Amino acid sequence: MSCRELVKAYGEGSPALAGVSFQIDTPGFTVLLGSSGSGKTTLLRAIAGLVPLDSGEIQVDGLAMTGANLASVRRRLGMVHQEFALVERLTSLQNVLSGAAAQLSWPRLVCQAYPDDLRRRACQLLADVGLTEAQANRKARELSGGQRQRVGIARALIGQPRLFLADEPVANLDPETASGLLTLLREAVTSRGIGVLCSLHQTDLALRYADRIIGLKAGRIVFDGPPEAFTPAVASTLFARDGAPHALTVAAA
Ligand code: ADP
Ligand code: MG
Repeated sequence: MSCRELVKAYGEGSPALAGVSFQIDTPGFTVLLGSSGSGKTTLLRAIAGLVPLDSGEIQVDGLAMTGANLASVRRRLGMVHQEFALVERLTSLQNVLSGAAAQLSWPRLVCQAYPDDLRRRACQLLADVGLTEAQANRKARELSGGQRQRVGIARALIGQPRLFLADEPVANLDPETASGLLTLLREAVTSRGIGVLCSLHQTDLALRYADRIIGLKAGRIVFDGPPEAFTPAVASTLFARDGAPHALTVAAA
């Protein structure tokens, strides 16, 4: 997947993406790290083809993300949304199967006539992410937060994506659950040889889980490298609020 000079502005003022370029060629866990408002969600949604860009180009497997290619490019991507967006009245298994909707003809889809091999794969994925048979048949609205995340991951994996996108999958989780989820995501995805682009705003988690960190600030990449190179100085630049020291001086005067 490659991004070249992506620009996106929602209105007047500074753009959400101000010329973002990078490439992910290999399996591995890449963390998109930045504070709130730095452009993480916009970037992930743009890569998923959900946000129209002002300029720039995205390619997945050498295919440009344009009108005619959009459907086949999207099939190569798996996305876990910030709130996991499960269908509450469907069971875990049905939610996972819905992740394969793009592979089905509409009559099969409407009648929920999923082929047996797909059902087997969905069950295996639910087992892989640690759910029991009973939980696989439970409605999403009856699941705990942790179980919902597992279903969300299984649903994104069933499309056999080449690149897995996760937008702050551990926002709103306590530290222990967050670590558990990132470990699970890392294992589930990297064992299948899939690349992951996962946004986070917590430096400690990025340092612990990432093979590569891309630091995003005000819509620009200010760091791109391995966790070893992500020094405290880099961290303070990434999270510094521009103008804050000046404002503090004025306040003290
Ligand atoms: P992050 O996910 O890092 O918090 P976002 O991509 O959500 O960043 O937002 C980047 C910038 O774009 C912010 O300034 C935000 O206010 C703005 N923004 C995001 N979505 C919209 C939208 N739908 N309409 C207007 N502005 C938006
Ligand atoms: Mg966001």
